[in-house]
Amino acid sequence: MKKWLCRVLVIVCGAACLPFASACQKEKKIAANYEIVAEYSPELSTVAGTVKLEFTNPTERALETLKFNLYPNAYRENALYKAVSSSYQKAAYYNGKSYGSITVLSVSGAKSWSVGGEDKNILLVELEKALYPDEKTVVDIGFLTKLASVNHRTGVTKNGVNLGNFFPILCGLKDGAFYESVYYSDGDPFYSNCANYEMNFVLPKDYVLASTGKVKAEKSLESKKEYTVYATNVRDFAVFASEKYAVLEKKIGGVKVKYYYYSDENAEAHFETVGKAFEYFSESFGEYPYSEYTVAQADFCYGGMEYPAITIVNPFLTEKEYTHTLVHETAHQWWYAVVGSDQTTNAWQDEGLAEYSAKLFFDAHGEYGVSGKELVADSLAAVREYYRTYGSVFGEADTRMTRNLSEYLSEYEYRSIAYDKGMVLFDTLRQSVGKKKFSAALKRYYKDNKFKIATPANLVAAFERAGVDVAGLVESFTSGKGIV
Ligand SMILES: [Zn+2]
Repeated sequence: MKKWLCRVLVIVCGAACLPFASACQKEKKIAANYEIVAEYSPELSTVAGTVKLEFTNPTERALETLKFNLYPNAYRENALYKAVSSSYQKAAYYNGKSYGSITVLSVSGAKSWSVGGEDKNILLVELEKALYPDEKTVVDIGFLTKLASVNHRTGVTKNGVNLGNFFPILCGLKDGAFYESVYYSDGDPFYSNCANYEMNFVLPKDYVLASTGKVKAEKSLESKKEYTVYATNVRDFAVFASEKYAVLEKKIGGVKVKYYYYSDENAEAHFETVGKAFEYFSESFGEYPYSEYTVAQADFCYGGMEYPAITIVNPFLTEKEYTHTLVHETAHQWWYAVVGSDQTTNAWQDEGLAEYSAKLFFDAHGEYGVSGKELVADSLAAVREYYRTYGSVFGEADTRMTRNLSEYLSEYEYRSIAYDKGMVLFDTLRQSVGKKKFSAALKRYYKDNKFKIATPANLVAAFERAGVDVAGLVESFTSGKGIV
């Protein structure tokens, strides 16, 4: 994601895929296939649907319960962990208070089910019998998502509808068990494995749909329209729709790149920036594996947000912020969408790298007049300012980068650590090992961790394979022991 706070711009993004494979495990096939049927009703502000999940146990142990995230429950009135932090309430809730939720209506193919977790955020599906390794099961879930009026990941906005995280999605597997995370408003509290999706999405015919995946069919149904969309090996699936979208598209390499916008007087120029960033990252890090990449405008209280094969950007940013957000979010296609990381614990790993990738892009594209050196200097100054401020308020500043999202006291702290200190870490790495080895290491990191959830150790291993030992340096940053 990208948050523009008081300083320049800060991005916060996150969702990661925890592929069943850590570096030493054998690669597993895609364990989950989703078939989703859903309909958006603007007059009710709801999405009603079903999720049919075919799941093959990729772990080494028997599973008796499947767990799904119920993210829309973070928008309910009494949520313990609110989707929107207090500092963004006003920007997000444009019509005042508004609430959303997700109701599970039915589950078939299971012995029983219940809604639990720390904050009604988890659907627990008890299977009829234990699912042993490599065994397959199928469950069907009926759900009704009520949408708040909110400029956020899941909500109705003045210009359309944002449907990130709107359906029950399996919790990611971590160490062979489903990983639960509540909806922390600071950061992107998402952790999921790559899966295959087929979605039939119905909406009023005047709406244009932008989503993860590739549209295979579009059918008119009197006053409605049905899209059939497929996506392979993606860690999430997001949908955005608006009656106002205009669309630009072009092929870059073999990939169709698209721009959906409703408020942009410089659409062609912005689309060109997206294309340049896409090309630059493809050449710098590795080939993009999906057939399409979409950037869509969406009313959003932050700068932007990344999902697999689709990025959203807030149209109401300054020109400088807008350009930076387009580049930052596009970088997330490599660092988050393809190479996942645990955003709930190592937010720096994708945010810091997306920021640093943007820095590299601006260095290579002088026509934007953005100095990469200054971006790094700004981040370094921000980290030091954080250190001074928190040091004087709390006696000491916590500078650990590896920590759960729950351990951040504020968005300011999160931004300073994940983005700014992350940026400084990657710049220090590049200064230490040199441009060539840094570039080789990132290519290695991308290649070796595609569709997985990479750990910091996987990042260090990529540098090692490029011929440099950076374990001590990375550890000194992430543990907070090193002085910046
Ligand atoms: Zn980001």
